[in-house]
Amino acid sequence: MNIVESIASAVSRIDAKGWSEGTGGNLSVIVDSWDMRTKEGAEFPLSWDASALEGRMVAITRSGCRLCDVAIAPERELALLRIEKGKARLLWGLEGGGRPSSELAAHLMSHASRLASDPEHRALAHMHATHLIAAGMLCPEEEGPFTRLLWSMCTEALMFLPEGVGILPWLPCGTDEIGRATAQKLAKFRLVLWQNHGVFASGASLEDALGRAEIADKAAELFLLTRGGETRTITRPQLRELASALGLSPREEWL
Ligand SMILES: [Zn+2]
Repeated sequence: MNIVESIASAVSRIDAKGWSEGTGGNLSVIVDSWDMRTKEGAEFPLSWDASALEGRMVAITRSGCRLCDVAIAPERELALLRIEKGKARLLWGLEGGGRPSSELAAHLMSHASRLASDPEHRALAHMHATHLIAAGMLCPEEEGPFTRLLWSMCTEALMFLPEGVGILPWLPCGTDEIGRATAQKLAKFRLVLWQNHGVFASGASLEDALGRAEIADKAAELFLLTRGGETRTITRPQLRELASALGLSPREEWL
């Protein structure tokens, strides 16, 4: 599967979940190799230091695109950018005009942040994950208790999120400020909840990032479905037993 096929597959998964209503959601991938013809196109200035990504190529969705259209017209709905000093250069895509995602700052800053933590990192997806947003509105705005709640709902939550879930208090979207704050969180977490908005998921591939968000959202959904009733959750001793059995090292202070 090449990059465009991988993105098309990811957006159909996100769309099927209902996590990209309207023009919501955007995603990007660091591209190591590209097999289609490129040309030196438009420049998009960057208002922050992107030197950690200079020379890298990043494929990102168009600003204002509907994710469900990406698979139909990838050359119109995607942009392949090369990061240069102080700017991003269009190499492919945006055939009908337009700009890269309004969350370009959040994507590029977060790629730089994740790469510093994990050289295998490649993909980011911003999605309006319904159950995580709802659970975030009901729970204290604290990463430890929120993470433990998700871990206690279903076995895979701890397996796929041993470092937990980061929480970003509500901020206006599309700004350098939310980009910087997201990148800071992603230095420690692979999944960050934007309160009353959505999530930013990262991974070695889009499949990896989406899988992580799907598991966290399933845990949040289970919490919402069982809230108010007598529930039997995975206990702290059981979480320790699970971590020991799988050789995982989840955050000790949140177990
Ligand atoms: Zn959004």
